[in-house]
Amino acid sequence: PAEGQKLSPNDPMAKSLHYVEDASKAKRPPREGTPGEQQFCHNCKFLQAGEGEWRPCSIFGGKLVSVNGWCSSWLKAG
Ligand code: SF4
Repeated sequence: PAEGQKLSPNDPMAKSLHYVEDASKAKRPPREGTPGEQQFCHNCKFLQAGEGEWRPCSIFGGKLVSVNGWCSSWLKAG
């Protein structure tokens, strides 16, 4: 995807929600029974439909996030 479509980890809101493109680099507290190490954008309810490694996130206005990323708004999909 074009750089402008991707959410920058330096974006102020991304920073405030501790967004990272590599979830393993984040401190992920357990949430609703899901251990941190099982939390990724690809199993977050806010990730929108798409294909490939970069998909839109509704929390970030449809900017593309890495399916292997994470932020502190994570909630289990489904
Ligand atoms: Fe990833 Fe979910 Fe945060 Fe969006 S809200 S960046 S999909 S963890």
